[in-house]
Amino acid sequence: MQESFSTLKKQVIDRGLCTACGTCAGVCSEQAIEMVCVEEEPEPKLTGKCNQCGFCYNACPGGVVPLADMDRWLFGKPSSFHEAPLGMYRKSLRGYATDHRLRESSSSGGVTSAILNYALDSGVIDGAIIVCSNPQMPWRCSATLVSCSEQTRSATRSSPEMVPVNSLLKHSVVEKGWRKIGIVGLPCHIHGLRKIQMKGEPPEISKAIKLCIGLFCAATYYFEGIKHLLVEFAGIEEIKEVVAMDYKGGRWPGSLTVLTRDGKITHVATKHEYTWHFLGPAPYKRDRCLMCPDFSARVADLSMGDVFQKVSDNPNLTAVLARTDIGETILTSASSAGVISLEDHPPEFIPKSGMGWESKEHAGIFRTRQRKRFGWPTPDFQYPLKICPLPGKIVFPS
Ligand SMILES: Cc1cc2nc3c(=O)[nH]c(=O)nc-3n(C[C@H](O)[C@H](O)[C@H](O)COP(=O)(O)OP(=O)(O)OC[C@H]3O[C@@H](n4cnc5c(N)ncnc54)[C@H](O)[C@@H]3O)c2cc1C
Ligand code: SF4
Ligand code: SF4
Repeated sequence: MQESFSTLKKQVIDRGLCTACGTCAGVCSEQAIEMVCVEEEPEPKLTGKCNQCGFCYNACPGGVVPLADMDRWLFGKPSSFHEAPLGMYRKSLRGYATDHRLRESSSSGGVTSAILNYALDSGVIDGAIIVCSNPQMPWRCSATLVSCSEQTRSATRSSPEMVPVNSLLKHSVVEKGWRKIGIVGLPCHIHGLRKIQMKGEPPEISKAIKLCIGLFCAATYYFEGIKHLLVEFAGIEEIKEVVAMDYKGGRWPGSLTVLTRDGKITHVATKHEYTWHFLGPAPYKRDRCLMCPDFSARVADLSMGDVFQKVSDNPNLTAVLARTDIGETILTSASSAGVISLEDHPPEFIPKSGMGWESKEHAGIFRTRQRKRFGWPTPDFQYPLKICPLPGKIVFPS
């Protein structure tokens, strides 16, 4: 007999190992799992009848992330954290979307959205799953399905909250009838997608996953912390008064900017201010993120992040690691078509971009080892948990 949702609940959710990636809800053969909010955090809940197909349990990246098997499956060989701290890749580049409006309204340089638009326009994918502002609760974000470049403009700039992106997998294949999908997600979303592909189940979803774009990820944060910024930090007394929110508003790296019902725009905090408030002392980091050793989305087709070094007058740039055949091909085609502009980016710049690397590959791995010693629940990443410290001082972006 296959594992059921109750095993997933016992072994992952109730042990604090769930990342809230939404994969279980997105693969359930009965569509019986929903992502609900518990204390304002997304969590999977069985709302229908489980037929024990085992899809949710097998695809879940909460408790087990077989990174060595994933490396073998994708790249033909395993490679530990220590040997390949950024994971395996073919090219390290940086660039920007040549559409000026897209570049200026993007999180970094807009390469992610430009690639997605190119993939949609050229038929590489039928549609994509991205993150946008939640239409019912504009102070929160949610996952959405897009099928043309006009719709990708609704994408939110990097939101620090965890969004169960993968929960829309089944919708995209069944309701939309898409046979080729692209997903933009955090490393843990990509882990779920690779588990689906490696197992080949559910077959219709496994076959449909064509392009996995991973974002570098320092962590996601409890909404309680974001609420603190809005309410106590910026004096927005009633969160329901928020009608629009932009985490990277204004010039890169941007500010958390909020529009309230009374028409007032509040600059809550600069990106660096709120990141350092959250990241340095880590008060609101989601607990599962404290045990995550994947900063650079090691098993994505393309991994995207910020460029914190001063390399050009316009700081709106995306760092790009092209890892797989499909990743490299689409990047090259999009570049030849003139929708993105790329140049080489020294890979050693990537770990030196702020505290994300240090907090995951050093502190996170060390913390996970400590938890293991105490017998606390920890995820299994298959590789031995060897710390990979940032060589030298952290470069604080100015
Ligand atoms: C939670 C989080 C933490 C990050 N941490 C780092 C870091 O420490 N260092 C670093 O260099 N880069 C980090 N990034 C990546 C960086 O902020 C940019 O997303 C990346 O450089 C791509 O920029 P772009 O201009 O190409 O993307 P754009 O073209 O602007 O596209 C942005 C994409 O991000 C997606 N998105 C936004 N919020 C989320 C979310 N919460 N979950 C999933 N998808 C989302 C949107 O759907 C959209 O497709 C982080 C991103 C997120 C969301
Ligand atoms: S698949 Fe994702 S959302 Fe579901 S239990 Fe596992 S980690 Fe949580
Ligand atoms: S830190 Fe890891 S677990 Fe947390 S959101 Fe990022 S990729 Fe997912």
